Amino acid sequence: MRTEFTAEQLRAPQMREADAILRKCVHCGFCTATCPTYLLLGEENDGPRGRIWQIKTMLETGRADAATAAHLDRCLACLSCASTCPSGVDYGRLVDIARVRLEHAPRARVWHRRLARALIAAVVPYPRRLKWALRLARPGRFAAPLLRRAGPLRPLAGMLEMAGAPPDPLPRAPEVFPPQGTAQGRVALLAGCAQSVLAGRIGRAAVHLLTTAGYEVVMPSSAGCCGAVVAHMGKEERAKALARANIAAWERARVDAVLIDASGCASTIADYGRLLADDPQWADAAARIAAKARDIGVFLAASELPPMRAPRDMTVMFHAPCSLTHALQQAATPPELLRRAGFQVATPAEPHICCGAAGVYGVFEPEISNALRQRKLANLQAVEAAVIASANYGCMAHLQGSAARPVVHYLELLSWAAGGPAPAGLA
Ligand code: SF4
Ligand code: SF4
Repeated sequence: MRTEFTAEQLRAPQMREADAILRKCVHCGFCTATCPTYLLLGEENDGPRGRIWQIKTMLETGRADAATAAHLDRCLACLSCASTCPSGVDYGRLVDIARVRLEHAPRARVWHRRLARALIAAVVPYPRRLKWALRLARPGRFAAPLLRRAGPLRPLAGMLEMAGAPPDPLPRAPEVFPPQGTAQGRVALLAGCAQSVLAGRIGRAAVHLLTTAGYEVVMPSSAGCCGAVVAHMGKEERAKALARANIAAWERARVDAVLIDASGCASTIADYGRLLADDPQWADAAARIAAKARDIGVFLAASELPPMRAPRDMTVMFHAPCSLTHALQQAATPPELLRRAGFQVATPAEPHICCGAAGVYGVFEPEISNALRQRKLANLQAVEAAVIASANYGCMAHLQGSAARPVVHYLELLSWAAGGPAPAGLA
């Protein structure tokens, strides 16, 4: 694709990066066939090729209008398009650059959307604030259906619906969990944000598996949200601040690896080196931590695991999150681990199509999010299975909202097979 940036514009590193990405696109449109929003809406501007064109126009002209913001906000950042593209267009990086630009054009979004985005960015990444917000929101969640019909208050309805999940906090003490048997190494485990408040069972399963495999596990209390939720909103400075806090905590902990049990966060932390490359004070440490970051499944698959035996003869339907499939390219790893533990594993049709969770996407785009959930569940439940397993809490919570079967993290199943507690719904 030909671009028309001025020499002045190309002095900015992000613009040079965008220019190089845009020039790779040959406008063939192969990517539209695998884009969930294009499949649902059938609109060129709601597919990757159309979005790439809008990003190019916005960056070249410096004008960010409401229509461009709407089409880019409808993008799930699932990266199915990037997996399909034969030219190697880095759509993920391009849409990140575009979202940072949009964030600096406040009039491109209506006031209530800006307010909801600001609220989410101020609360969700901080577990203590999130805990309080959920406590306050819980009594009001029955008003969500009413608010859903009240135009400007629709995002508020989505936020109240999030409060429906019962709390399951991950205690932040102790910070160090000793290994069982011969020590194999010392690893940090990301505590995260929403998951540490609503699904502590995932962290407990991870600690159980790692310690029984001989690893000392450290969860420094000063490490927290990876920054994905704000990074995906284009709030780059906030994402950098969260990254710096994590890097400082993990550097102090002197660990061999930083493990992440949510695939969406794993791809974000693996990108810390690039995020802070221009920060002379943090660039080296960010690169060191990015090099130590591992999706926990990848780490376990390469480790000597504790003895595992599936407690029951059962089939697990595995839903691979987009972050695992397209960003990390590791969709086969959890099924392989589950099979090693003795579970039978099934995978659904259309594995590359997003379930519609995509972080806080459902708050702003509930119709698309729900339509994708129904499509995904139809595929996941087309095969007889006792449970649906995934690798990212966001997908699990979203699917469980309408699923007829328990939805668990695959680490809960592995931990169960290694002598840990049975996941909820399978006891
Ligand atoms: S498949 Fe790749 S090259 Fe073709 S339109 Fe999509 S992004 Fe551009
Ligand atoms: S990231 Fe996903 S939703 Fe966005 S354009 Fe690509 S395929 Fe479509």
